Amino acid sequence: MRGVDELAVEIKEVGFQCTRCGACCSEISEGSNLVIVSPGEVRQVAKAAGLPRDEVAEPYPEFLEGSEGSWYTFDWCLSREGGHCRFLDGEKCRVYAARPWICRTYPFMLEDDRLIVSECPGIGGAMTMEEGRAIARALLARQAAEVAEEEGIRRVLSTTSPPSGESVVVDSEGVWPVHG
Ligand code: SF4
Repeated sequence: MRGVDELAVEIKEVGFQCTRCGACCSEISEGSNLVIVSPGEVRQVAKAAGLPRDEVAEPYPEFLEGSEGSWYTFDWCLSREGGHCRFLDGEKCRVYAARPWICRTYPFMLEDDRLIVSECPGIGGAMTMEEGRAIARALLARQAAEVAEEEGIRRVLSTTSPPSGESVVVDSEGVWPVHG
């Protein structure tokens, strides 16, 4: 795993300042920019928004076919309205303090130890070393949370099978039938 300072130097060299364009919170092309969230993040956003969980997130739309006619997906994603995240209000995020890891770290992500940078008009913006460190810390925490979620899903799958003929979300907390 990379150290915070080493990663922060690379992030600072890329540079980033948010231009508040809202593009990363919007569907730019079909199915783009889905905000994938863990069950814990769904709860966190639901609490901040004062909404029930099923109004905050929906199953990730790509399902895999399992044995015995079951269909399953491993992720939730934040719900959208009118082509953007339902929590985007003009150029503001209505759940900013509780926003998920993906939102905290965009346009950066880690693939193992490699820093990946997504397209974003804010790239190249001036940033301080402390801002770079803040993103580096968030990226490492996001990576740890993603590993923990994957391990949780493997644990659930080792003890439960998706019921035949149903579509379900399998996450680290269980198997959830998809209705409708
Ligand atoms: S939660 Fe906030 S930052 Fe994340 S996509 Fe929605 S509006 Fe944008």
